[in-house]
Amino acid sequence: MAITGDQALVKKINKSIILNTIRQHAPLSRATVSTLSGLNKATVSNLVAELIEGHLVTELGPGESSGGRKPLMLLFNKHAGYAVGIEVSVRRLKGVLTDLAGSIVAEEIQTLDNHDVSSICDSIVSMTNRLQHKAPSSPHGVIGVGIGVPGMVDEEGTVLFAPNLAWNMVPLRSMLEEELHIPVTIDNEANAGALGEFHFGAARGLRHLIYISAGIGIGSGIMIDGELYKGAWGYAGETGHMSIDAEGKQCTCGNRGCWELYASEKAYDEASWQLPSRSTSELIELAAKGDPVILELYKSMGHRLGVGITNIVNSFNPERIIIGGPLSEAQKYMETSLQRVVAERTLPYHRRSLHIGFAQLGASSTLIGSAYGAISQFLGQIRVRT
Ligand SMILES: [Zn+2]
Repeated sequence: MAITGDQALVKKINKSIILNTIRQHAPLSRATVSTLSGLNKATVSNLVAELIEGHLVTELGPGESSGGRKPLMLLFNKHAGYAVGIEVSVRRLKGVLTDLAGSIVAEEIQTLDNHDVSSICDSIVSMTNRLQHKAPSSPHGVIGVGIGVPGMVDEEGTVLFAPNLAWNMVPLRSMLEEELHIPVTIDNEANAGALGEFHFGAARGLRHLIYISAGIGIGSGIMIDGELYKGAWGYAGETGHMSIDAEGKQCTCGNRGCWELYASEKAYDEASWQLPSRSTSELIELAAKGDPVILELYKSMGHRLGVGITNIVNSFNPERIIIGGPLSEAQKYMETSLQRVVAERTLPYHRRSLHIGFAQLGASSTLIGSAYGAISQFLGQIRVRT
């Protein structure tokens, strides 16, 4: 029987609801899928059959029975395909291959010596190819690549402005799709980090969180009621350029006293005459040996991070703040001063039940969140039989 466009759309939506229910609650029976999704048993049964045929769902031996024949339990087949996640940062390119549940299967890293668009594109293409070769064989193969970049990205996957790479209007998605012939998704690295922690890390099960990516600058991924908030045109989250000192240091953005001048790796400039290195991992090694200058530097950066976080908490009333990015490695040396200033300065009602923590996926939040961008696009496009 032929079905109309509307019916096909309803079927596609129902199929996606069923798949998400199975991903979130597996192992579970068809009857439980029906209860949780609110869809009738016949619809569930038909669409589960299509998902099994499409290798996205598998059946496991009988589960608990409430009387009568024991039901077969359904599982999400996370090995039905693989995704590539790549993070472009100022100093390096990092890549991971993940299964469809965001678990890392293989990793790659490469140092960048320049930010020339075509050479970074070539590096992304060859890194993706290397990761594709490491993918175990699967029904859907490598389903796409997600890229996290330190800049503003529009809905077409064009990097509008990435000041630390000196990129303007780079149509990254179309450039990469031309070379790779698989779907490419591009997002800001802080948004990708928020998605990584939300789906696979410290923010699972939460609805309102702000992920703060602290490295060479500061950017934030804002999740409101379970959805990434991108603003009217996609540029929300540039919290690094929120002023914490009205007449403070001049920033290249045009504002004065920007948060990231005091609380990101840019703060190393101020103390540079005392610092033997400007690499966070080298400075952390010195802090671990008890170097008083470095310990004082991180204490003061923790304090300043807390000042900006106070503004964010008072504005958004999140359940959780998650600090990620390279500077999160200095958690041990910043945490006390950071928590103290937030406890002293945040509005009392906002402070209640607020949790401030560091990324559970460590340095991989953005990588796994970028891979998730590709996975969610793939799963959102599953076909229905018409
Ligand atoms: Zn600024």
